[in-house]
Amino acid sequence: MPSFSATEIAFLMVACQQVVLAFGWLAGAALMAESRRAALHWALYAALSAVSLVLFVVSVKPGIEPLRAMANLCIVASLVVLQRGVWAFFACPRPWLWHGVVLAAAGAATWFGLDPANGAWRVAIVSGALSALCLSVGWDMQREARARMELRWGAVLAVPLLLGGLVFGLRAGRAMVSPGTIVAEVTADSALNVSAAFSYLVIALVFQLTLVALVVTRGVVELRRASRYDALTGLLNRRAAQEALEDELQRSRRLGEPFSVLMIDADHFKSINDVQGHAAGDRALQHLGTLLSAQMRDIDRVGRWGGEEFIVVLPGTPLAQAQEVAERLRERTQALPPRWQERAVPLTVSLGVSQWAGAADELAALMSRADAALYRAKANGRNRVEVEPPASPANLRVLPTR
Ligand code: GH3
Ligand code: MG
Ligand code: MG
Repeated sequence: MPSFSATEIAFLMVACQQVVLAFGWLAGAALMAESRRAALHWALYAALSAVSLVLFVVSVKPGIEPLRAMANLCIVASLVVLQRGVWAFFACPRPWLWHGVVLAAAGAATWFGLDPANGAWRVAIVSGALSALCLSVGWDMQREARARMELRWGAVLAVPLLLGGLVFGLRAGRAMVSPGTIVAEVTADSALNVSAAFSYLVIALVFQLTLVALVVTRGVVELRRASRYDALTGLLNRRAAQEALEDELQRSRRLGEPFSVLMIDADHFKSINDVQGHAAGDRALQHLGTLLSAQMRDIDRVGRWGGEEFIVVLPGTPLAQAQEVAERLRERTQALPPRWQERAVPLTVSLGVSQWAGAADELAALMSRADAALYRAKANGRNRVEVEPPASPANLRVLPTR
């Protein structure tokens, strides 16, 4: 039974932790289609770092320097794979140049470092490469998390990697400043090495938690998006549009300002489906969704109310202005038909407009007036706008024309 020093035991514990995490990511890859590629990379990252730690412990015995070289290469490769996993997770381009340079530098350093006279250079170059990789992964993670997932706390993700980068950077610096001590230090059964191994244990675990946090957060962000937005058009779905209406009602009650609602229904939509097929109908709905959002101000809210019916909430907009907006939408829809299989698909819409009538007016009444106006637009020949004036406008300020 071989006996292990405290340093060796500490490193072997970290290796065990990495093996468990590798299996965890493999299980994750089987479960999460969305993040599969990233999870496989992260499983390989953990496995390679476990291998490198075991090789490191084995190679402490004198006379087996090639294993030490392998350990160095494995740990650099593990961080390369980690970064490629982060890129895969965020669907970034994955160029090989940077990783090729780092691996080539680490390979050359370990090869020449087999000669003990070059030991300090080996430590300096390998630690420098590890430091650069840690910092670069940390930078990528926080930048992408903030940009693509709108995570305000994205910078926190970089903390464990920043620490790792600093530790490896210090090691590289010390190898240059006092080459004798650093080479001896790596193999020594020292308190420094034991504490380094334990710090690595904690940093690696916290770092793995940040990866898990990324995956979980993406799941939550996507669930939230799916629960609020319509999958076909990308507009607010009915529930979110209803919430937007309620919010606007509260706001207008507080400010005593008018707001209006447009109910929009595609004309003879069934015949688009019947003649050109359901896919052409879907394309027409997407086109209509894009057109509606493009025409609206940032503060307006556009939703898919159901089927081929849409709703627009116009804050601070009295009936006459809302009617102008509706007329413009009607004209634009007719003038810019969707295209399907190289051909324009004629498409028109009918619109019903209603205005919130003040403190006593309720949402249900407002919506049924918009519905009634839409019904009249259909009855009067379609491709037209009808307005339904409030029964008794009250308590509303007059706003300047937009
Ligand atoms: P009108 O001018 O009176 O509104 O006639 P219409 O044909 O537009 O109205 P109707 O209610 O008879 O038909 C609506 C059609 O919209 C029927 C339905 O299949 C189609 N539709 C609803 N949702 C979707 C969808 O997501 N994709 C496609 N392709 N069609 C849809
Ligand atoms: Mg219709
Ligand atoms: Mg309809």
